[in-house]
Amino acid sequence: MDKKRIIIAIDGHSSCGKSTFAKAIAARLGYIFIDTGAMYRAVTLYALENGAIVNGIVDEERVEAMLGDIDIDFRFNAERGASDIYVNGDLVEGKIRTIEVSNCVSPVSSIGAVRHKLVAIQQQMGRKGGVVMDGRDIGTVVFPDAELKIYMTADAMVRAERRFKELTAKGDNVTLEQIYDNVVSRDKADMTRAISPLRKAEDAIVLDNSHMSVEEQMTWFDEQYRRVMEA
Ligand code: C5P
Repeated sequence: MDKKRIIIAIDGHSSCGKSTFAKAIAARLGYIFIDTGAMYRAVTLYALENGAIVNGIVDEERVEAMLGDIDIDFRFNAERGASDIYVNGDLVEGKIRTIEVSNCVSPVSSIGAVRHKLVAIQQQMGRKGGVVMDGRDIGTVVFPDAELKIYMTADAMVRAERRFKELTAKGDNVTLEQIYDNVVSRDKADMTRAISPLRKAEDAIVLDNSHMSVEEQMTWFDEQYRRVMEA
């Protein structure tokens, strides 16, 4: 008999390796990996490029008004083993993780109309199961009935150092302090916003990966997955 294809919801703090973990799980299980943070980042990039964010100030009404012009889709990139994100047919994967986008994404993602639009797309993409979705509200709002929910966290400085390495390796000109401030302020904004704040779903299992390698996280995951599938 075919194994059932479940929904795996991964939420947690900024920059704690949710996407790396989710991508590895998806590859292991032959599931689709959906990075919902990339969707909020893509809307933020569009808003930055089209005048709805000026000097770091987000004009909520303008963002809301331009939502109808933003068409988001994912296309699988075999080289990366994950899907790239496109906005209105343009590949934006390489442009959405800059510090500029990171600094504006939390206010954009706190706009109700933005969440409404993106949550509907996410629910549509995951409706058949066989997905690993990472974000902030997946286990609480997008798929409250997901069979396996994981809440990830790690020490804030460890997270900042990991992100710093990633960005400087790409040639971005950033300081560790800038990244640390961004990580801490995004956590705060994401956890205190009025709509769909980041919080641990009651039935989520916590994974603190401050001192864990990716392999150790996979071993931990296998155990959780086995438990759910045998239940
Ligand atoms: O996961 P990532 O750090 O790329 O997400 C960027 C931002 O998008 C988060 O800080 C949060 O403000 C927002 N987000 C969200 N809900 C999600 C995924 C991301 O509000 N499901």
